[in-house]
Parts: sequence; C-alpha cells; structure tokens
Amino acid sequence: MKYVSTRGQVLPLSFSEALGEGLAPDGGLFVPAEFPKIDMSVFDPKMTFDQFAAALLKPFLDKDDLQSQLPAICRGAFNFPVPLKFPTPESALLELFHGPTAAFKDVGARFLAECISRLPGHQKRTVLVATSGDTGGAVGGAFVGKPNIDVVILFPKGKISPRQEKQIACWGKNVKAVAVKGNFDDCQKIVKEALSSKELRHTRSFVSANSISIGRLLPQMVYYAKTSMDYRRIKGAAPGFVIPTGNLGNAVAGLWAKHLGFPIDKIVLATNANRSIGDFFASGKWKPNATVSTLANAMDVGNPSNMERLMALYPSFEQMKKDISVVSVSDDQIKKEIFERFDDDLEVYCPHTATAMFARRGLQGQNWIAVATAHPAKFESIVEPIIGQLIRIPPQLSELLNRPSVYTEIEPTLAALKTQL
Ligand SMILES: *Cc1c(COP(=O)(O)O)cnc(C)c1O
Repeated sequence: MKYVSTRGQVLPLSFSEALGEGLAPDGGLFVPAEFPKIDMSVFDPKMTFDQFAAALLKPFLDKDDLQSQLPAICRGAFNFPVPLKFPTPESALLELFHGPTAAFKDVGARFLAECISRLPGHQKRTVLVATSGDTGGAVGGAFVGKPNIDVVILFPKGKISPRQEKQIACWGKNVKAVAVKGNFDDCQKIVKEALSSKELRHTRSFVSANSISIGRLLPQMVYYAKTSMDYRRIKGAAPGFVIPTGNLGNAVAGLWAKHLGFPIDKIVLATNANRSIGDFFASGKWKPNATVSTLANAMDVGNPSNMERLMALYPSFEQMKKDISVVSVSDDQIKKEIFERFDDDLEVYCPHTATAMFARRGLQGQNWIAVATAHPAKFESIVEPIIGQLIRIPPQLSELLNRPSVYTEIEPTLAALKTQL
C-alpha cells in the first residue's frame, strides 16, 4: 500500500514514510493511493476491538516496516471500549470518550504514538501539534514517557476550557505545553510553517500529530467499520452517522470506512457556527473563513485542513452530495439540546455531542447513530450551568486534573515557536 499527496506532486510513499513526513512535501495531505478490497468475512462478531482494528488496518500497512507489529500496535492503541448505546428507543449513540483523556482523539493519538515509537532508526523525533482543545491532551497522554520523542503542544491561550488546558499542561517529562496568543488557526498555521521549514527540518526530525497525520486518520475508520457491522446485526439496517465536525478528520475517516464497503449509509456533518463546510455544501464553492468561537470549541475551525482529503475522495461535487449533508447548529441550539436531553432523558452531553444530537433530531428516517466525541465533564463550565447540576468526573480525568500544570506563552509566529524547540 502506498500513500500519495492530495496535491499530486509527490512520489508515492509507504505508510511509515508518510508518517515521518506528516504533511506531504508539496503542502498536500497523504491519502491511500487506492482503497484496498476488504474481505468482509474476516470480521468475526466475537473479535475484540483491537483484533478488529488489526484485521482492518492490515492492508493499509501492506509491505510496510511496521506491518508485522500491527497486532501489538493495536493492542496498545485500542485498549478501551467504544460502546454503541441506545439512550432512548429511537436514538443510537456511539460513545468514543472512554479513553485516557475522555475524548475520541485518544484513538488516533494512541495509534500514532504506538507507530512512531516503533519506527526504525535511532534519531530523536519531535512531535509538533496544534490543538483546539482535545488533541493536545490526547497526544500528551499517548506520547508521555515514550523514548527518543519530544512533544511540543501549541494551544490557543484562553480559548479552551480550564480542564482542557490542564490536560495539555499536566504531563511534564518529554511533553511541553506552549500557549499561543491567537486562535487555533494561528496555532495550526505556525505548525505547518515549522513542518515545511527547510531550516528547522535540517536540525531535527519532525513528526506531525494533528489530524493531518495519516497515522491518526486510519485508526478512526475502525470504530465506524465495527459499529456499522454491530448495528446492522442488531437492527438489520445500515446506519448513517451524524458526526460533530471541525477539522473534518473524524468525518473523513467515516467516509473512508464507507468507501471500503462497510454498511454505512449517509454521513451528516454537524457543525457549529463555523460555516465554511455548510457554505461549501450549499454553494459548491470552497471558501475558508476566519474562526468563530462557539460553545463546541473543539470544532472552532474556519479552515478545516482535511477539506483537501474530502475533495480528493470524490470525483465530483454531485457525488459528494449523495453521501454527505451538513447541519449547522447555533450556540443557542446547542444549549437547548443539552438542557432538553437532561430534562427529558436524564442524559448529559458535551457541547460537541449535543451538536450531533440536535442535528440528528432534524433528520428523516430511523437508522442514525450520533457520535459522542467527549465526556461532558471536560466542558463543565458550559454544561453545568445549563443543567444546574455538577457532573461526575470519570476517574481517568480526575487523576489528570490533580496534577500540577506547566506551560510557556508565545506570540503567534514561527520565530517565537523556534525559541521553544
Ligand atoms: C476534535 C473534536 C471534534 C472535531 O473533530 P474533527 O476531526 O476535527 O472534525 C469534535 N468533538 C470533540 C470533542 C473534539 O475534540
């Protein structure tokens, strides 16, 4: 299996090589050169999550240095459950937040860390990552203590919740937290600049851990694939997924799983007030916007980088629209959804999950699975005032919140970032 750039100017690379590059040298993103033909009969309902993952990902690492280690990589990465729940008889929810930092990004970050720490060669590597909230914690937790790897996490100062900040700045050891005076797009921009800076690349070996890394995208296909088969077994129909979307990583992974032939119907992208994706589906014209701050802040992205992968997947806009639709959800609607789900069902959702829940209720048909991306205790400052109750903190999270946090502050420029490397 080879990986090519969405911009088509790079010779095909192996999975390990593409991991090492992060961003493709032509500025594009790596995608599989072709989608493998999957033999669906290998997926036994009795398989554990990590066994299912190893079976699905095997062709994606075909002939790669890491292929023989894939079962061990998957045991390290897929070591927590992703339950499919039915909170009410007519709703289905895929809970992706039972990992170490209580957000779906644990899946991708842990797979990436298991892969990078096994790459051949002895040079020290630097993982550079920009975060709009949950990525930083997940990456810190996935890489802390891994030998020969330094991690630098950039987050937008004051734009994430205090508990999110804590989860980024609590790790110590080989994990350094940097607060950028700007927004997420500023963080992402200077990471991209650093990754493509000849001067910096000369002195160190960078690896990206943002959702632009192919090593984060591929493992996210696994829960869509497995859940779609489980759902069909239970309900007798292929489900559609309603995915809370920001940088489009999670959604592209769901679409890749669909393209592999798993029983997935439509994909609905639930966005917040950041309207670039919604405007694109309405007009067919792609125009990134400045980022708007919302209650679902891990989705505050005005220029989602995985848009390139989405475009690369479809030969035409018409075909894209057959598989995908978009629902934009305002902050007022998010609040109302959090309140009503608690009031009616006694369920508590994070603002991102509430975005999907709201979008789902406006859809025709039965077989929809809303995707729950974070535990509500991570967003207590938003959710607790709405429901008028304290949220119980899951044990893995309270352990992190009790640690001291340490970070440095910088201006939003590459020059300022260099002083931290
Ligand atoms: C990152 C994140 C999202 C958005 O995922 P993308 O892959 O960026 O679209 C949604 N919800 C939560 C809780 C997140 O952390």
